[in-house]
Amino acid sequence: SLPQVSIVGRPNVGKSSIFNWLAGRRLAIVDDMAGVTRDRMTFLINEKDRYFEIVDTGGIGINDVDELDEEIEHQIELGIQGADVLMFVVDARDGITPLDRSVAKRLRKLEKPVLLVANKCDGDNWETQASEFFALGFGQPILVSAKNNRRKSMLTEALHESL
Ligand code: GDP
Ligand code: MG
Repeated sequence: SLPQVSIVGRPNVGKSSIFNWLAGRRLAIVDDMAGVTRDRMTFLINEKDRYFEIVDTGGIGINDVDELDEEIEHQIELGIQGADVLMFVVDARDGITPLDRSVAKRLRKLEKPVLLVANKCDGDNWETQASEFFALGFGQPILVSAKNNRRKSMLTEALHESL
């Protein structure tokens, strides 16, 4: 089967936006509100004559903030099934949040390659802020903006190299 890249991260960081951006189509639901029930979505990407499958896992719906940890656990479980690489998405504008740390902790246990991606780097001057994500333990993040189409090829090349 094809190598699989699963997009994981806390709600609202832009996982589905990145998924759609890479797909070049609006396949997954993008929402301002965390907790919309979404299915596991996949599409195939071709980078330098190699195909791999990208997976977006929205997880189950949540309305209660107290259930966020559970939600993330569930989402990661869905995402990691069969995953060869985890694309760990964080929000450059928010910096590291407790939920990011929670995700990082779970990902570390998996012992699979993790590609750290800081989304919402819409303008310039994100390098300084985004460098704090190094502390999550997955190296320097790739700084992207799904909204403003920034550094897409850097992301797909990094995916290619991580496989
Ligand atoms: P998910 O919950 O991680 O799947 O996040 P979504 O893809 O649903 O996006 C959550 C919110 O972030 C939506 O309002 C998106 O429009 C917004 N968003 C996604 N990517 C970007 C980005 O690069 N820049 C900005 N400013 N907003 C973004
Ligand atoms: Mg989503």
